[in-house]
Amino acid sequence: MADCIFCKIIAGEIPSKPVFEDDRIVAFEDVAPQAPHHVLVVPRTHFADLHEAAQDPRLLGDLLARSSAIARERGLTDYRVVVNTGREAGQSVFHLHLHVLGGRRMTWPPG
Ligand code: 5GP
Ligand code: ZN
Repeated sequence: MADCIFCKIIAGEIPSKPVFEDDRIVAFEDVAPQAPHHVLVVPRTHFADLHEAAQDPRLLGDLLARSSAIARERGLTDYRVVVNTGREAGQSVFHLHLHVLGGRRMTWPPG
C-alpha cells in the first residue's frame, strides 16, 4: 500500500535489519528498540490492524508461532508479544505487526 512504511520495508525500498522471512511473513529489528530484544513480526499482506487481519486466522496463528520461534532462537524464556490496535492503544504504524520484546523485566499493567 502506498505510503505504508512497512510495505516499503517489505518491498526493500527502506532498509531494515532482517530477522526472518518466508512467503507470507517478514520479521526485522525495531528501529527504536524498547528492550534488548525488540523484533517486529509482520505479514507481507497489508492489513491495517488486528481487526482487518482477523479475516485470516491461519495467518494470525502463523504470526504467533513465528514470534515464539524467534524468542526461542534468541534463548528468551520470558518475553512479551504485543499488538497495539488503534492510536489510543499505542499503534503508530497501520500495518499489522507483532512486537516481540525480551531481555529485561517487564512491568504490568502496561502504561
Ligand atoms: P506501533 O506503535 O504501531 O505498535 O509500533 C510501530 C513500531 O514500528 C515502533 O516500535 C517503531 O519504533 C517501529 N518503526 C517505525 N518506523 C520504523 C522503521 O522505519 N523501521 C523499523 N525497523 N521500525 C520502525
Ligand atoms: Zn503496509
